[in-house]
Parts: sequence; C-alpha cells; structure tokens
Amino acid sequence: MGYPRRVDERAHGGAHGYRLRLAHLYPDVMNIYGDRGNVLALQHRCGVRGIALEVVEVNVGDELDPAAFDLVLIGGGQDREQRRVADDLARHGAAIRAAVDGGLPLLAICGGFQLFGARYVDQSGGVVPGIGVFDLETRHPGRRADRCIGDVLLTTEVGEVVGFENHGGRTYLAPGQAPFGRVRHGFGNNGEDGTEGARRNNAIGTYLHGSLLPKNPAVADELIEAALRRRFGAGATLAPIDDEAEAAAHAVAARAAVARGRRGRA
Ligand code: GLN
Repeated sequence: MGYPRRVDERAHGGAHGYRLRLAHLYPDVMNIYGDRGNVLALQHRCGVRGIALEVVEVNVGDELDPAAFDLVLIGGGQDREQRRVADDLARHGAAIRAAVDGGLPLLAICGGFQLFGARYVDQSGGVVPGIGVFDLETRHPGRRADRCIGDVLLTTEVGEVVGFENHGGRTYLAPGQAPFGRVRHGFGNNGEDGTEGARRNNAIGTYLHGSLLPKNPAVADELIEAALRRRFGAGATLAPIDDEAEAAAHAVAARAAVARGRRGRA
C-alpha cells in the first residue's frame, strides 16, 4: 500500500512468518467496482502482521487448483462480463465447491457473487449458469425495473458491515442457505426479505463493493484468520492492528447508509 501508517508492534505476534496464497479470479474482466481494493486491503493487513500474501491472477483458460490456495477472490462485472467468464468458471466449479466444503475462505462480489449461485437469469430471460457454491438463484426482473442502488448497512456475524450496492438482478436464497447479513439500510439481495449476500463455511458472497474490505476490516480479518487456521491449525491468530483510517471510512459509509434510510429509499 502506498500510504504511511502507524503500525502497532503487537501486530507482529501470533502469525508472523506465515505465507498465504490468494487466487484472484478474472481480475481483468470482473473488476468494475474497485475490486482490486479488496486485494490491497488483504495485502496490507497481512503485511503489517508479517504474513506474506502471494497474489496469483487466474484468467480465462488458466489452470486452477483451489485447494492449493488459502484465499479466493472474485470481483463484480456486468452481464456481458459475467457471460464472458461463466463457461471458464464452470470448469473449476466442482473443485471450488469441494475446497469451500474443506473451509477455503472466499469472497465473491456482486456479479461474481451471482455466478457463485446456481444461475443468473438476465433481463431477456437468458440463463447464465453459476457454479452453485451458494444455494441461490438470481433473476433480473426486466429492463423496466429499477436497479438496486445506494449505500447499505448490514448486521452480520462479524458485526456491522457497510458498502455500496448497484445491481439489477434480485437474488433469492434457497431454504437453509444462510445470508451474509441482515439489511438495516439498503435493498440487499432482493429488496423484499431483508437478506444480503450468502455465507457457506468461510465463503462469503455479497453485493457490497466500493471496495468492501478497506472499510470493513473485521471482514478482511475474518477471511485471513480462517485462511491461517485452515493451513496452520487453530492456534494461528491475528493480533489487532491500528485501524484508525479504516474506522473513519466505515463511519462515513455508515452515515451515508443511515441518511439513505431516513430519506426512505429502502
Ligand atoms: N448482473 C448484474 C446485475 O444484476 C451485475 C451486477 C453487477 O456487478 N453490477 O445488475
């Protein structure tokens, strides 16, 4: 990261010296919402703790052994980009599902999140197949329907999460599929049932971007800690680090979401 920050010395306890590998799927195609910011946040939060994070970009046509990675990330993309990567992603579907069952931490954002469900039915009724990591389906209600756009505030297992949503598709979770969070302000998955995103083991899918992890450090640390434990055992823990800038960014986004709620827009 290119900006100076104060580093808490305690940060070097616990996990110092570990190495993790992150697979960033289709970074040149699925990258419309500053999704690279999520990679930078993970690199920063690993770096100040003395954890080496190697980032491997996986593009269309590349081989992928998800079990050999410690973290997987896929960003957002519009329908056109989703169609471009769907067939290639399908090649890796079974291996990614198995790795998630084995505890692989994963973050899928927006268009990437939709592709990790069973399918996305676009505004013309065309079906873009997903890889079924999450038990859900996304349907676009048609050209005339409003998009779900704006600041969002969620309650999740890792506390309050903030972000920005911009999607036309409405996502419906199958019974038994856990959401990532509950919507306090915003539309979330579909504007109806109060759910947002999906969670399976250490895999998180969400519509929130902008980027998500820099202003939600608890989510970033949840992923990193899960990665350490899967690879190095339950004793691998993360020490707290200075989160002043992150907390300030979180507070600004939270205020925007609350103001949106007051204006009565979802
Ligand atoms: N298919 C998408 C939609 O529902 C794309 C979401 C996105 O990443 N903007 O609008």
